[in-house]
Amino acid sequence: MSEELSSRQVRDLELLLQQLQQELKRLLSTTEEGARPVDLGQPIGRLSRMDALQQQSMAKASRRSHEIRLQQIAAALNAIKEGEYGQCKECGEPIGFGRLGARPETPFCVGCQGRREPGR
Ligand SMILES: [Zn+2]
Repeated sequence: MSEELSSRQVRDLELLLQQLQQELKRLLSTTEEGARPVDLGQPIGRLSRMDALQQQSMAKASRRSHEIRLQQIAAALNAIKEGEYGQCKECGEPIGFGRLGARPETPFCVGCQGRREPGR
């Protein structure tokens, strides 16, 4: 079982979360251009049109995952304020500093994350 976080560790992770939040917001604002609808009226040829559509859907997918991460980060920062940070949302056990250092926004411990996402 993992140790509960010290207040020092929580402060470090809060900083990490704030940095991540800024970085993701920056990424989202720079990828906005690529996620614009493809202009199908443009005479760019069938293949390049398919390329454009594919690029657009990839840009959308990565935007989507950034947005989900941002939501988790906001929830984690809120949990820090409430003094509930570092507890698994599923089983209530401490998540552990090692795991939070790698992924500070995660709401689940390793075991629960594994059950939610089989194969990872
Ligand atoms: Zn758990």
